[in-house]
Parts: sequence; structure tokens; C-alpha cells
Amino acid sequence: MDHNQELFDRAQKVIPGGVNSPVRAFRSVGGAPRFIERAKGPYMWDAEGKSYIDYVCSWGPMILGHNNDDVVAAVKEAVERGISFGAATEAEIVIAEEIRKLVPAMEEVRLVSSGTEAGMSAIRLARGYTGRDKIVKFEGCYHGHSDSLLVKAGSGLLTFGNPSSSGVPASVTEHTLVLEYNNPQQLEEAFARYGDEIACVIVEAVAGNMNLVRATPEFIRTMRELCTKHGALLIVDEVMTGFRVALGGAQSLYGVTPDITMLGKVIGGGMPVAAFGARADIMQKVAPCGPVYQAGTLSGNPVAVACGMATLKQIQRPGFYDELSAQTSKLTAGLTEAAREAGVPFCADSVGGMFGIYFLDEKPRGFADVMKADQARFGRWFHEMLELGCYFAPSTFEAGFVSITHTDDVIAKTVEAAREAFAKVA
Ligand SMILES: *Cc1c(COP(=O)(O)O)cnc(C)c1O
Repeated sequence: MDHNQELFDRAQKVIPGGVNSPVRAFRSVGGAPRFIERAKGPYMWDAEGKSYIDYVCSWGPMILGHNNDDVVAAVKEAVERGISFGAATEAEIVIAEEIRKLVPAMEEVRLVSSGTEAGMSAIRLARGYTGRDKIVKFEGCYHGHSDSLLVKAGSGLLTFGNPSSSGVPASVTEHTLVLEYNNPQQLEEAFARYGDEIACVIVEAVAGNMNLVRATPEFIRTMRELCTKHGALLIVDEVMTGFRVALGGAQSLYGVTPDITMLGKVIGGGMPVAAFGARADIMQKVAPCGPVYQAGTLSGNPVAVACGMATLKQIQRPGFYDELSAQTSKLTAGLTEAAREAGVPFCADSVGGMFGIYFLDEKPRGFADVMKADQARFGRWFHEMLELGCYFAPSTFEAGFVSITHTDDVIAKTVEAAREAFAKVA
């Protein structure tokens, strides 16, 4: 029996679904997930010793490729000085200063250990700062799995949401309004009706959790104006897009200044670091300065911070993002051409080192469009690609990622494999 299957069978006896995060289970494409043993640069090796070109990159963090030598050296050096102190360290100041330099809207920064924590804390801070309860989120955007954000749209257009997970009280999600992505009119209606009760609007400016969907500039501009006008805070969730779509994140591409920014993924370089930050007057509401409570035993962990800082150093090399974007565009152009040759309805898009591939005739503008993708054909294509040594995200609702180690040669091999895979599923 395949060793991956054996491990999967064993895992399912002690871990729900055999995985520690649901998408890893391959539920939407079927089959046994690959159990990874090691990785280097753009490659990963599974329990059978089979190698894959990796387009998941740990869901974004591995922007320098796996096991970058300088990052590994920084981590080793930090480990030797101590794994955790539960006390302040200079490294936390250094990374906070670096974050403020790269994302100026984050005048003050609090480090946490996951994007979920950053989202939960950002919402609490917005509520504490404004003294309001209601929050607005958009269909298809993901901001971590805290209770008030696990919401689906209510039954009517401007009715408040219902829990999208069992275990979340309706009394928590009744404060969350779920609106359509890229629909500025709906946002205006929501503010006209509830403007003085809304604490914040939270958004992914380039959405990456319903495949990749770009916000229109008008959508973001309207959001910024309405928040300012009504005294609500704009939270831009850059957990995925931060240091991924551009050095300054999606906010630098849209020219928008959020009130609160969330970071994660790349900022830890593969270790558990995330952050939220804002103007000083907002951040001064956070404990111990202010009344909004927030804490973490391992927040700002020295080993994780060393890993993140070593990653942040390398991405500032001149030309890094031009190179990363160029490689990502070569990939999406190659895949699109391969699909066209095979006559498979397909299109693709990318922003910086993040991409979307769609088994659709045109690029999606929101969640309803993404839902129309040919899931069955994607599933077959995914397995063909896996067999040919290319590891893509196992779902039509996830974005893909390229690292700086995905050279022309690596991308050419991927496109070659894709020709074969598209021909098989045509
Ligand atoms: C991944 C992600 C999160 C959650 O981060 P975790 O570290 O998985 O908790 C939140 N928001 C966005 C946009 C993300 O992509």
C-alpha cells in the first residue's frame, strides 16, 4: 500500500479527519493527502519519496522557497539563545520597527501567533475603540475562525448573519452583517441604514480565500469613504496579501490607508507569527495601555520572530517583487495557453506572487462566480498534476503561491505537465 495512504489511515484514528486544518484532507478532490517529509526551494517530498513542485508554499509564507539557508541559520542562532522567555526581547522591537517602515499605516504593532488571533483582536479593538458592536464582512472573505467571523449572509439583503459553523451562538453572529464582495451600492445601503452602529468593515483587498478575486478600486474607495464618514474603522486583512502581492501589501497597490491592518503568513516566514497594527491613538486602547484586553504566552516568540525577520530582510532586495511577479505571470500565462490548446474552459490571474486558476470562462468578481467553477474537472486535473509532480491547492476556493525559487525551468516543467493534464481532462 502507498505509504501516504497508510499514514492517512493511521492519522484518522487519532486526529479528526487525519489533519490539523481541514483543507489538508483533500476532501473536495478526494484521495489520500500527501504526507510531506521534507522540502527545499520549490520542491517538497512525500512519504513515498516522490517530489513535487509546490504551489501552495505553506499557503503563502514560503515566499523565499523552502528551507532558505539564511532563514535556517537565523532560526538556529535564535534557538541556541533560548526557545522562549515569556518576557520582552529586542528582536520584537526590531521586527515592529521593520513592519512600520514597510506598512506605514501600522504605527504601532502587536504580535500574535496566528491570523485568526490577529482577526479576533482587530475586531475587539475596533469595537472597543468605537464603542459599537456591529461589524461588516464580505461573502467569500476569510479572517480566521473566531466566532463573530464564522458567519454566512442572513436570509434578506441587509439582515444580519447566521453562524456558518456549529458551535457558534447566533447571539454572537447577530452583530455581523455579511455583504457581497465588489458591491459598493450594497455597502452604501448598509451604512445608510446602520451607519452609526457599525464598528468596522473588514476586508481582504485581494481576496485569497475564495480562490483569488481582486477588489475593484471603486469598491475599496467607497469602503474607505463610508468608514471615515460614519466613524467606523476599516480593517484591511493582509494576512495573505501582506508582503505577498507587493512589499507594502495590497494597501500599497490600492493606495488605501486602513485604520487597522492584519498581517500573518509571510511575516513569520513559516513560523507562527501574525500581527495587528494601527495608528497610535487606536493601538493605545490595547492592554496594558488601554481597556481592550489582548495577550499571548508565545506572542513574539524569539525563534519565530527570528524566522520572520530573516524573511523580511530578503524580500527587500531591489527587484524582488518584479522577479516574483514575472515568474507568477509566466506560470499563469503558460497554464492558460495549455488549457486553450486542449480546449478546456479556463482562465487565470495573479497579483505579485499570488495567483488564481479558474475552471471558468472568465475571471470571477465575487463568491457567486467562484461557485460556478467546474469542480469535477478541476479535481481530475489536480490529481493528474499531482501524479506529474506538481502540487496545487486541493480546492477551487484557494489561491496559489509562487516563491522566488520558482525559476524559469521549474515553471516550464509545470506548464509541460499542465499540457498533459489538460489534454486528459478535456
Ligand atoms: C490565513 C488567513 C487568516 C487566518 O490565519 P491563520 O494563521 O490560519 O489563523 C486570516 N485572514 C486571511 C486573509 C488569511 O488568508
